[in-house]
Formats: sequence, structure tokens, C-alpha cells
Amino acid sequence: MKDLKEKKHIAILGSTGSIGTQALQVIDEHSDIFCAEVLTSNNNSTLLIEQAKKFKPNAVVIVNDKKYTEVKEALKNEDIKVFAGKKALAQIVENNEIDLVLTALVGFSGLEPTINAIKSKKHIALANKETLVVAGELVTKLAKENAVNIYPVDSEHSAIFQCMAGEWQNPIEKIYLTASGGPFRGMKKEQLEKVTREKALKHPNWNMGAKITIDSATLMNKGFEVIEAKWLFNLQAEQIDILVHPQSIIHSMVQFADGSIKAQMGMPDMKLPIQYAFSYPLRLSSTSPRFNFLNSSAFTFEKADAENFPNLRLAYEAMEKKGNMPCILNAANEITVAAFLKNKISFLDIARINEKTMQKAPFIKNPTYTNYAETDILSRKIALSLL
Ligand code: MN
Repeated sequence: MKDLKEKKHIAILGSTGSIGTQALQVIDEHSDIFCAEVLTSNNNSTLLIEQAKKFKPNAVVIVNDKKYTEVKEALKNEDIKVFAGKKALAQIVENNEIDLVLTALVGFSGLEPTINAIKSKKHIALANKETLVVAGELVTKLAKENAVNIYPVDSEHSAIFQCMAGEWQNPIEKIYLTASGGPFRGMKKEQLEKVTREKALKHPNWNMGAKITIDSATLMNKGFEVIEAKWLFNLQAEQIDILVHPQSIIHSMVQFADGSIKAQMGMPDMKLPIQYAFSYPLRLSSTSPRFNFLNSSAFTFEKADAENFPNLRLAYEAMEKKGNMPCILNAANEITVAAFLKNKISFLDIARINEKTMQKAPFIKNPTYTNYAETDILSRKIALSLL
């Protein structure tokens, strides 16, 4: 990575989503050292046009090609290349000017562009955890072969990464992955059967996109984060402890061979991990609110409830089974969360259908990229048929 004497050129895949818009705020606040080289959006042409006019990237991609003319027309007086379609999204990361690619896409769709970016030797700021959930083995192997760094943007993984600064020669004994517990912490299955989409979308501490907010409510997000941590930090399942910490001030912890535990703390604010992934190993100034120990209630800790929140158990089962099983779980979960958001299934149906899809989809022990892509399509079909 450049040492910030020269501006760092950043490609943001998914610039109109929750992470993408916060990443642009970080770039705006530090425009002396960062610039937006590429911006992409699936559908939100209005915001993409607005962002392009403000940040003047070299290129934009609107994935929905029906909106190409609208974007092209709106930017005709700017020196900005406009592309459309999935292929353009996958290829844009090969651009020579890019130093770092922020993958802020949702779900399986992040996998192909991330693989292409790694093959083009671009460092990755990873906000799309599904990439590592689905194909962690393949992606980390490619990153190693291409000498590419993967900087975590997920707050827990950023916390672990921050705890590891200056410690890379010291093996991790275990990590404590903290969890807020989500909006339904403490509820039993009978109560969970009746919870609504509106309640599920109200996360107590974090302001995030719809998909990850539902995943936080079902604990699927925490399950995926265990898999993500396994690949990022080369850990075994036994080395990863989930600790429910409802205050969301400790973002995660690392325990070393001598029993010493390091924690990373602060107010829940995604701009910090985004900024750290951009500026590593430096820390930049930030105007975000500071945590005050004397104004806060006590820190509390609980065990995570995998019985009432079966998605957490499913994540462990998928991780243990390996092969394409995490890919099957992820695909099913993308379908069930979308169906829940459309009020088509109940909250507990999400895990029920996820589990059935895992039982029905064909298992592949050593999947290739093509196998993953096929598994994704087939598992979605199976989950859809189970709705
Ligand atoms: Mn997280």
C-alpha cells in the first residue's frame, strides 16, 4: 500500500448503500489523502449521479443496465466514464489507477468482483462478509498468491485487526467476537414466531442496511462473522467465542498465549473501521462522538442463544461441514431474508427454510468457483420452492 504521500485511489463497489455512503463521508473528510476512483450502484441511479458529480470519479457503473441512458445523460458534461451491467462491475476493478477496492456489495454478488480485484493485485477493504462465508478458502488462497491484503471493515473483525497491530508474530489463543444480541435478545421461540419486519429492522445500536439488520436479528450475521473470522485470522472454530455484549462498546477482543486480553472499544460507528481499512497502519482524525466511561452503564456479557436463534447453529454446522455448505446456507438466507422483508414468511421460517435447503442441496466437498456459482443458483431455487 502507498504510504499516503500520494493520494490513495479507492474504488467503492456499492457506493449508494449504507457502507458506501459512509465511505464517501470518510473520503470527503480526508480528501487530501483519499479520492474516489470508481463508484458503483445496483439500482440507485439518482444517488450515483449525485455522488459522481460531487466526487468526480474516473468511472461509474450502474449494474441495472436499464438505467444506463439516464446516468450517461446526467453525466454527459463530466469527464466520467459510464458503464452498465454485471460484467462491467466485475471488470471495473482491473483499472490500473485503483489502489484499494472497498467491497460494500450485499451477498453472493460481491464474490466475482472481489476475486477479479484480487487477481488484479488490488488490496481489498472487505465489507462484503458473504465473500468469505461463501468461498473463504478460495479467496484467502488467491489473496496470498497475489500478495494482496484484505483489510476487514466489519466492526468486530476490524477490532481484532486493531488488537493485532504489533502482534503478528504472537499466535492468537482465542478471540472474543462480541455481539449486541440484536433487537430480540432474550426472546424465546414462541415470542419470536410473532415478531414483525418493522421490529426486526430496528437494531438497538447499529444503523445498517436492511439485509444485515435482519441477519443481526436472527444471529445469522454473527454466525457468518464466525466464518469470516476463521478465514481472516486463520482460526479453528474452538478458538472463536461469541460474547453477547448489549452495550456494543467493546467491538471484539483477542486473547494471547500469556492470557493477556486486548480489546478495541469505542462508540458504535462504522466510519471508524472504514477509515482504518483505508488508512492502515495510520490512524486519522475523526469528529465522531467519543465514548465516556463515566456516563455509561456497566458492561455486561451473556452467552449467545443458538437454541432460540437456530441460524447461529446452522452457521457452525456449515463451517464444520465445509465444501459448498456455507455457500448453500448463504444463498438460502438471501432468499429467506428477502421473503421476510416482503412479509411472505415469518421470522422463524428464515432459519427453518435455511436448514431445509442445507439438507436438500447437493454437497460438494472441494468446490471450484464454477461450483460455487452453480450452488448459489441451485440453492436459491430450492429455498424459493420451500417458501
Ligand atoms: Mn459486524
